Amino acid sequence: MEHPENDKEYQGLTVNAGIEQPATVNPYLANRKRVHRHHFTPGEYVEGIVKGNVTVLGQAVTLVESLLPEHQAVAQEVIEKCLPYSGNSVRIGISGVPGAGKSTSIDVFGLHELEKGGKLAVLAIDPSSERSKGSILGDKTRMEKLSVHPNAFIRPSPSAGSLGGVARKTRETITLCEAAGFNKIFVETVGVGQSETAVHSMVDFFLLIQLAGTGDELQGIKRGIMEMADAIVINKCDGSNIEKAQLAASHFRNALHLFPLPDSGWMPKVFTYSGFYGLGIKEIWDMIDEYVRFVKENGYFEYRRNEQAKYWMYETINEHLRDSFYQNETIATLLAQTENDVLMHRYTPFVAAKKLLDTYYELLK
Ligand code: GDP
Repeated sequence: MEHPENDKEYQGLTVNAGIEQPATVNPYLANRKRVHRHHFTPGEYVEGIVKGNVTVLGQAVTLVESLLPEHQAVAQEVIEKCLPYSGNSVRIGISGVPGAGKSTSIDVFGLHELEKGGKLAVLAIDPSSERSKGSILGDKTRMEKLSVHPNAFIRPSPSAGSLGGVARKTRETITLCEAAGFNKIFVETVGVGQSETAVHSMVDFFLLIQLAGTGDELQGIKRGIMEMADAIVINKCDGSNIEKAQLAASHFRNALHLFPLPDSGWMPKVFTYSGFYGLGIKEIWDMIDEYVRFVKENGYFEYRRNEQAKYWMYETINEHLRDSFYQNETIATLLAQTENDVLMHRYTPFVAAKKLLDTYYELLK
């Protein structure tokens, strides 16, 4: 019976048939093809990547960036299988303080490079993303022309984890991009110190974008960063700023001459340009091509990549050891107490550290 309430037992109550109501959920939804994100097998990821499928590449990068152990396991397998297809690129680090004109410049540098053919990936390492919970570097909207170019792949900075962790993910993403046929890789970072070291550890050429200031531009820039640069380029050399930019360039040239010649044998160059007006771009990229030829001939290109491979091996070991120690539950509970003991002068910092490490080693047995 459709309405049991109409039974004789329910006296005094009649329920009418009523009017059929329209569905509360879009009825066409059921007919729509479900667009579930397909989870590929590692082999399928590799196949898609090697074919140059950027959708698959993007999904694989998402796995690399994921913190979930099951994603990491797949990501590591994909990276390993992509390794034989990778390495065939020129990797260029681009650094500069916010406002130096990185996005404007990368847009024109990238287009200039793409005119010569090939494919370009723009990646980023943004240490501030840890705090802001979202990355600005590598944001597609900042590179208007590149973002709609069919041969460009732009990926914002991975946002989770320590600088070392973020950098490692970018390093792994380079491998995937290269396997997908991207033969030009830009790695962008903000000029704030440590992130430069991270970028330097994964690129063949390090380009430092500077601005002409009030004549004391050398003061604000750390010696270590100057020493990393294979070229310093002064942006915004246009309009009323031309003279100042050229003056800054000569200051940088003089300063660089005071440093010993780098291991590469390449004397870092200084150029002025205008990213906004597209002036002086060709000169910079001809110089980078010249650098690549130079270091490929003298063997430094290969040497630097080998040194970087070693660096990443040790970095990864260090990171795992640190995580294993600090994430150990017993250690985590002992840490606060031991810290307190040190502050109360019950132990010296060294004895306290030794005690914790000994406990950790005991736990491993
Ligand atoms: P980023 O923070 O380093 O990525 O810098 P942006 O590319 O966003 O540039 C910061 C500001 O400088 C923007 O307002 C740009 O329009 C301006 N800018 C960038 N390049 C040039 C240039 O070559 N000349 C001039 N005059 N302004 C520029």
